Amino acid sequence: MDLYSGHINKLIDELSGLPGIGSKSAQRLAFHLINMPKSRVERLAKTIIEAKENVRYCKECFTLTDKEVCPVCANAKRDHGTIMVVENTRDLAAYEKTGKYEGVYHVLHGAISPMLGIGPNDIRLKELVVRLKENVSEVIIATNSSLEGETTAMYISKLIKPTGIKVTRIASGVPVGGDLEYIDEVTLLRALEGRIEI
Ligand code: ZN
Repeated sequence: MDLYSGHINKLIDELSGLPGIGSKSAQRLAFHLINMPKSRVERLAKTIIEAKENVRYCKECFTLTDKEVCPVCANAKRDHGTIMVVENTRDLAAYEKTGKYEGVYHVLHGAISPMLGIGPNDIRLKELVVRLKENVSEVIIATNSSLEGETTAMYISKLIKPTGIKVTRIASGVPVGGDLEYIDEVTLLRALEGRIEI
């Protein structure tokens, strides 16, 4: 027997397909949405659609942004010869919050994971190689310290080595398996300062 109406079930289904939302949270959110004033629901729906339609990849670093080139890449005061490679836009935001990193970024949008069938061609690696033809003096690999992050770091290091460009890896102050976005700024800065050449 179906306890809820078909529409609520559909809503719960959609919500539980989102990352981090289990079936209980999905139910709670669904009922919360139903009880919200219609104007707020409309505003939320409109905000989601507008974000989807207007957010794009920066044409240089591939972070998510509203403009053709993101504010970091557009900033002439940043050191465009130092590229920090991160897995996603959230990790970029974590380093930006420290306010101490002066280089630019490259966002991979994922990490190599043979287990999940994600190979080098499934993340923005080719785009990184293209960028290395500009004046780049150092590539800092700041992928997570998970198995996937380490695999990706090794792959990138092997890829870049022949070019003679300096390749460094952030220090292991970042706990194993730790997602950069959850780590405090002091630890992030220590990891950056303690980076080692690989
Ligand atoms: Zn950018």
